Amino acid sequence: ANASGINYAAELNEQQLLAVTSRPGPALVIAGAGSGKTRTLTHRVAYLLDQGAQPGSILLLTFTNKAAREMMERVSQLVPQDLSALWTGTFHSIGSRILRRHADELGFTRSFSILDRDDQKAMLKTVLADLKIEVKGKGFPKPDLLATMFSMVVNTEVSLDDIIEESYEYFAHKLEDIRQVQLGYEAKKLATNSMDFDDLLVRTLNLLQDNEELRGLYQRKFKHVLVDEYQDTNSVQSKLINLLVSKHKSLMVVGDDAQSIYSWRGADMRNILAFEEHYPDAKVYKIETNYRSVPEILEISNAAIRANTEQYEKELRAVREGGQMTPALVPIENTSMQAQFVCERIQDLIDGDGIKPNEIAVLYRAHYQSMELQMELAHRGFQFEITSGLRFFEQAHVKDVAAYIRFVCNLKDEVSFQRMVLMLPGVGAKTAERLWRDWAATEFAVRDKLPASFSELLLKFKVPAKAKSDWEQMAYILDELAPAGKLASPSQMIYAVFEGSYDEYLKATFDNYDSRRKDIETLMEYSEKFEDVVDFLSQLSLMSSVDGDPAQQKQQNQKDEPAILLSSIHQAKGLEWKVVFLIGLADGMFPTGRVLDAGDNESFEEERRLFYVALTRAKDQIYMVYPMTNPRSYTGDYVLSPSRFIDDIPEEMLEEWNVSVW
Ligand code: ATP
Ligand code: MG
Repeated sequence: ANASGINYAAELNEQQLLAVTSRPGPALVIAGAGSGKTRTLTHRVAYLLDQGAQPGSILLLTFTNKAAREMMERVSQLVPQDLSALWTGTFHSIGSRILRRHADELGFTRSFSILDRDDQKAMLKTVLADLKIEVKGKGFPKPDLLATMFSMVVNTEVSLDDIIEESYEYFAHKLEDIRQVQLGYEAKKLATNSMDFDDLLVRTLNLLQDNEELRGLYQRKFKHVLVDEYQDTNSVQSKLINLLVSKHKSLMVVGDDAQSIYSWRGADMRNILAFEEHYPDAKVYKIETNYRSVPEILEISNAAIRANTEQYEKELRAVREGGQMTPALVPIENTSMQAQFVCERIQDLIDGDGIKPNEIAVLYRAHYQSMELQMELAHRGFQFEITSGLRFFEQAHVKDVAAYIRFVCNLKDEVSFQRMVLMLPGVGAKTAERLWRDWAATEFAVRDKLPASFSELLLKFKVPAKAKSDWEQMAYILDELAPAGKLASPSQMIYAVFEGSYDEYLKATFDNYDSRRKDIETLMEYSEKFEDVVDFLSQLSLMSSVDGDPAQQKQQNQKDEPAILLSSIHQAKGLEWKVVFLIGLADGMFPTGRVLDAGDNESFEEERRLFYVALTRAKDQIYMVYPMTNPRSYTGDYVLSPSRFIDDIPEEMLEEWNVSVW
């Protein structure tokens, strides 16, 4: 008997039950897709609580914030406790939470800014300018590539020299300059109280490595650590886990080597093997049954992944009975017909078979492949949501508004300051730089302390005549964001910026004013949930690009009706739907041209694992759609060949559909 009244034995199979009820210690659940790994984790959390563990002593790491929310929903259905003290989220969100608490230990303040890719590029530009390095032409890596290189250094723990030698040989003669940029970038982040996404991981790790007291604090706090999608953790992340659990050793990780799809972020499926080396006494649980899919879908998934040489042998057996339908292969004339077909089929499923829109997903390799479908779905009045593409917060107008807020929260934030002043008429890069230097020299910037009045200070600055009145207006808006040296609430801030000047700027600058205005309204609405502006900014930044983005979904799905989901395969990881459409199944689309060009086995096998992830999302029906031509191809590949992944599936397992759309 237990407090929650859960009958564990009835809800779990033997291996799951063993794992869920095991004594605290290192444990690894390694099993294929849909075998109930995530279910094992949620029940494990419930079980620990049943055994008297405090919610605040549990750390549950997931791959996306959406996954974290869903898991917490499931757990709270299982147990009566209030779970708000339980720490859950992505590595990045947990890292930022720890770093905000102890930022001063690292020479930052609690309100440090979080840089996304765009901000990183802007900062790298200023570093290049400081160093007087020209990046015109092909002689030097562009800011975007520099950011990629620096990120590789962090995530793979390979030195810059080796990275350049291995992957960017043609820049080898610039190594010294690139190293200077890297140093300059690190220094600038510190000087401007800013961290990028990698810092959220690495600095958390370093903080705990270097500070014995804090290390002890968190080691004592987290008595139980649980990790989903372990195959996609990289070495920095696994070090962080190992460090946190080294006192209590109650660690459960679950994963599937066949679904490792993040090697570009330094993840390595061999991590799973390393786990057993690191914890020789680890208990290992293997589940060989699949609860998700009908046998027809499981068979093609098994066949697809079998072609990979680098995998641990495991074959999944279906628990479910045979389905109604053989997996469909749908060759179709072109990509616009593909959109038509998907819409018509969805209509039939909803009208004829009573399938609900939210039981349907359309998956693709890359976001651009969803464009025609988005238009067609909208045209036909379907409700749909998208979990990929440009993040809501990454859109120019949203970042413009946020720049004001970020600046008042972090008065050393050069990137946000420059973004703000560059919106003023008559202000170019030179002037923006000078204005920054003037600001940076004030005691308020130096001490990161809010002035009693921004306008009093800023009106004394020298600005171009053309910018004068807008500069003044900006100063008054800043006053409203922090009246009398105290920060206003997030929604008050957005309102002040928008009504103060940004609305006009928006009208004058962008052509699709209405939809952008709606975005700002969405942002304002979203911000009302937050009292603390730093929390609000964190949350916005952490809706990472591998994550579902509530703000964006809301915008697409205003009626709050159940909606069809459009998603990249990466972002569909761990999820399931009754019906899955996999579109763009042509060579050059999936596998991508880049993978085909690279030609190495490793990239190819990773791409195939992604294919396996896609197939195994489906419970009842799958449609694999192959467009035969691509009228909008830039590569000149007008005629497309079917994806070579299809060849790995025996013909008799598929039913070829002969579709004519009209
Ligand atoms: P993935 O590798 O895709 O993340 P997973 O191994 O995490 O998959 P889950 O999502 O936990 O699998 O489970 C897949 C489906 O099977 C879910 O709908 C889950 O509720 C169901 N399921 C898992 N185990 C059982 C069980 N013992 N009895 C009944 N249903 C189960
Ligand atoms: Mg899972």
